[in-house]
Amino acid sequence: METLFIAGAWVPARSGASREIRCPADRVLVGTVDEAGPADTEAAILAARNAFDDGEWPRTPIAERADLLLRVADLLQRDKAEIARAESLDTGKRLAESEIDVDDVTSVFRHYGTTARVEDERAIEVEAPGVVSRVVREPVGVCALITPWNYPLLQVAWKVAPCLVAGNTFVLKPSELTPHTAIHLMRLLAEAGLPAGAGNLVLGAGSTAGAPLSVDPRVDLVSFTGGVTTGKRLMVNAAETVKRIALELGGKNPNVVFADADREAALDNAMTAVFLHSGQVCSAGARLIVEESIEESFVNELVARAGRIRLGGPFDAAAETGALISQAHLDKVTAYVDQAIAEGARLRVGGSRATDPPLVDGYFFPPTVLDECDTLMRCVQEESFGPVLTVETFRTEEEAVRLANDSIYGLAGAVWTSDAARAERVARRLRLGTVWINDYHPYVAQAEWGGYKQSGFGRELGAAGLEEYRETKHIWRNDHPAPTGWWRSGGDAGGGS
Ligand code: NAD
Repeated sequence: METLFIAGAWVPARSGASREIRCPADRVLVGTVDEAGPADTEAAILAARNAFDDGEWPRTPIAERADLLLRVADLLQRDKAEIARAESLDTGKRLAESEIDVDDVTSVFRHYGTTARVEDERAIEVEAPGVVSRVVREPVGVCALITPWNYPLLQVAWKVAPCLVAGNTFVLKPSELTPHTAIHLMRLLAEAGLPAGAGNLVLGAGSTAGAPLSVDPRVDLVSFTGGVTTGKRLMVNAAETVKRIALELGGKNPNVVFADADREAALDNAMTAVFLHSGQVCSAGARLIVEESIEESFVNELVARAGRIRLGGPFDAAAETGALISQAHLDKVTAYVDQAIAEGARLRVGGSRATDPPLVDGYFFPPTVLDECDTLMRCVQEESFGPVLTVETFRTEEEAVRLANDSIYGLAGAVWTSDAARAERVARRLRLGTVWINDYHPYVAQAEWGGYKQSGFGRELGAAGLEEYRETKHIWRNDHPAPTGWWRSGGDAGGGS
């Protein structure tokens, strides 16, 4: 197979182990890839370490590194159809969504390829004759990039593009469930001229292929996107060798709708917020917090529309959303809804696996709405990562803010109102890394993305997304070296003779 990319060569897993990848929409075999073990990952770490310590990439001028990113952007567009198809087969998401994802990935490479072209140096004024003092930015070193399955190539791009342009080398460990577009990207990086060892790819389970990345002393930084449980474990592991770490974790994101909101826009976007990609979006607006006076009619209409959403496979042009990623995830979402009902939530639509043919061949779960929820319920506090909306109500702005902030998470959310002053007030009071006003989900490569609270720390995208991959060094140069005059035993005192 030879699907691991280590030190510039495509190699098989040392153990000979492999993994079948099946499309979640119909369980048809998509491909078989190598399943790396710790020894493969250690070889990849060594390759990245050598490429950083002795290789050319960290010493390549930044403008040339940026040029490579721009070449990759062009290659991504050249291969757009093939990459989008591979993404849809691995994830089960609609082809149209995967095509948008490839454009987004391209824009991330273009963003860092155009904005990060000059060395970031700062001269310091010092009152010392003959001294030149400056602060320079340098790459951090070997970066472990660990990513999830919901936006496989997009999450990889958010890390790889700034990591490389800053002059680092990396070991990428994408989700074991969705490896194909990461393989394709590594081919494009090599085609664009990335030196051997600067970018390495290992595929396989987190507990085996991924585990060495957060403990190995040769790794300088771990950038992780995934679940909060894994994130906590990596943080503990990284502490042992004081690695830098950035965590993009889960969310349970509030979508706050005031009675004066544009009703049609709020309704339509409330559906997009939670049902896009079957809710498998870290920023999914899975908590509808709606003003009590409009709750009944708003939720009735939402329930009616949710019941009409058409599920289907990636190449079904009529489908509006797709399958869940796996049987395990389907079981998790099912258990979450069952528990919510047991806790007292009222099931309004959906609620159990879709069983009509041909959906029964895949992991389809229909759009689900649970109302009469309150913040104490687990279904309101925990991330289902499925197409499940919980509904809570409020009477005052104060209460809306309190409910929305009553979460261990703080990734993203929205406020819907036609009162501009209130929109600003609420946006500033929400403890979230991203707040949309009268919108849901848009993001741009120029603006930072990341979480408050247990949604993680560190930022991706924007200027801060590049800073994650840079160290700061102060260089002090004295052009007229002289004795300090501090020590009595110095030359003038005649000491030592
Ligand atoms: P996960 O935590 O199970 O896995 C994420 C990655 O970590 C995978 O590549 C996995 O193999 C790897 N991994 C697991 N254990 C590991 C270990 N011990 N050492 C090293 N690597 C290990 O998450 P998932 O199920 O793939 O993704 C879903 C989660 O990701 C959700 O919670 C979602 O909210 C979150 N997410 C967050 C963002 C964000 O921007 N904040 C974006 C997308 C997804």
